[in-house]
Amino acid sequence: MTDASLTNADNSITYDAIVVGAGVIGPCVATGLARKGKKVLIVERDWAMPDRIVGELMQPGGVRALESLGMVQAINNIDAYPVTGYTVFFNGEKVDIPYPYKADVGPVEKLKDLVKDGNDKVIDDDLIRVKDYENGERERGVAFVHGKFLNNLRAITAKEKNVTRLQGNVIEILKNATNEVVGAKVDIEGRGKVNFKGHLTFICDGIFSHFRTELNPNHVPTVGSSFVGMSLFNAKVPAPMHGHVILGSKHMPILVYQISPQETRILCAYNSPKLPGDIKSWMINNVQPFIPETLRPSFDDALQQGKFRSMPNSYLPARKNDVTGLCLIGDSLNMRHPLTGGGMTVGLNDVVLLIKKIGDLDFSDRETVLDELLDYHFERKSYDTVINVLSIALYSLFAADNKNLKDLQRGCFKYFQRGGDCVKLPVGFLSGVLPRPLLLTRVFFAVAFYTIYLKFEERGFMGFPVALLEGIMILITAIKVFTPFLFGEFIG
Ligand SMILES: Cc1cc2nc3c(=O)[nH]c(=O)nc-3n(C[C@H](O)[C@H](O)[C@H](O)COP(=O)(O)OP(=O)(O)OC[C@H]3O[C@@H](n4cnc5c(N)ncnc54)[C@H](O)[C@@H]3O)c2cc1C
Repeated sequence: MTDASLTNADNSITYDAIVVGAGVIGPCVATGLARKGKKVLIVERDWAMPDRIVGELMQPGGVRALESLGMVQAINNIDAYPVTGYTVFFNGEKVDIPYPYKADVGPVEKLKDLVKDGNDKVIDDDLIRVKDYENGERERGVAFVHGKFLNNLRAITAKEKNVTRLQGNVIEILKNATNEVVGAKVDIEGRGKVNFKGHLTFICDGIFSHFRTELNPNHVPTVGSSFVGMSLFNAKVPAPMHGHVILGSKHMPILVYQISPQETRILCAYNSPKLPGDIKSWMINNVQPFIPETLRPSFDDALQQGKFRSMPNSYLPARKNDVTGLCLIGDSLNMRHPLTGGGMTVGLNDVVLLIKKIGDLDFSDRETVLDELLDYHFERKSYDTVINVLSIALYSLFAADNKNLKDLQRGCFKYFQRGGDCVKLPVGFLSGVLPRPLLLTRVFFAVAFYTIYLKFEERGFMGFPVALLEGIMILITAIKVFTPFLFGEFIG
């Protein structure tokens, strides 16, 4: 039975903004705009707590964006687990990669009208400590049960007096005679199909977006691989408060991170959108042998239970928001490989930039809003390109399926083992605090040249011609896995 206050939204007025979807990004857009004085309608097809295996580890760049928006307390009181960095395993060896020092990253920008009464700071709870997040030496991320985090975001939104929440399925984006977007048609239980008018309609309907093609019929993602997930209970993780990336020359990447005191998520990459017919056998043969020893008991229990869940891994470069009255944001606009846990961070930083660009405009002035949205497309590139390209490039290396990629995978791990800038820069990109695409390019090719150097070292004087040939192949492979995506992100 739906709460009546969720179905009686007024359809006789024109809202400043209609937000389609209350996942990670929708509530942040709605709250930000409401705090800027806009009248906002947010439509979600199901306000009950979702149960999904996505969006469970947030990088420091995402936490910082929540601080900018005055919404960071959404990570409080949900048993969220602090994350202080990553540990990468490769064929049994490991390297720790702590998150960057705060001193190396600029201060968090606090958005006017959004940040007030200390809402830009976490509060103390059982696991999150103000002193660690505010005064700790290093940046911190956080991991949580996705649905609990969403509930908190939605509760913050619900408190805004300028926000009207509506439960219903958006079935059509409404347009006028000149093809400008003027609102949305919503199918509401007990009320039927109702048209709502808005000056600007934000599409935040996520990975399986129905409405992203309103921007362009070609705005569709490609899916190259999947993740198979399980919940591990009472797992003994090898590196507490770290994301674990388990790599090896004989298997696909495996991710492990603790999302609550009891629950640890494991995501196992499968190099095809179509899952294996018998997932359990695939797990036994291709994942189980590579699980670190301390995790085995909880892994074996989960395997026995057989509760497998899967998600496709999609890639979608962003496009200009060039349709009057429409703005795509979040996964509807832009997706990358989830290997590096960057989706929420990109989306939340997009919200910060969006509010800065258009938050103070009059949305009935649709031309000015459109101009600013076009600018916004170019301004978001530096930040988003780094996270997006990194995710694809690392997945290509970590899921290596040919000799040159396998060499690069090993070279990448050996590069991390050197420490210093060889760790500091990559983790800066990954954590969303170093938005410098050219520096990313330099580091990626430094990894490639280091891999080539290792080849020469390995082959010795007599093997010089073979190493030279291998080196050329490695360089060509590196160019092939990196440059098309960098180019695609920049020109799109
Ligand atoms: C396997 C996997 C793991 C991931 N792990 C991470 C991670 O660890 N860290 C990270 O940062 N990112 C991760 N991501 C990415 C992250 O989940 C997304 O970037 C993020 O959820 C995008 O937020 P969103 O608001 O755009 O979409 P969503 O969070 O998907 O929200 C969309 C909302 O729209 C609603 N909706 C859809 N259609 C309609 C409609 N027609 N009418 C009304 N409502 C509608 C849905 O019910 C939903 O609530 C992962 C992705 C995958 C695939």
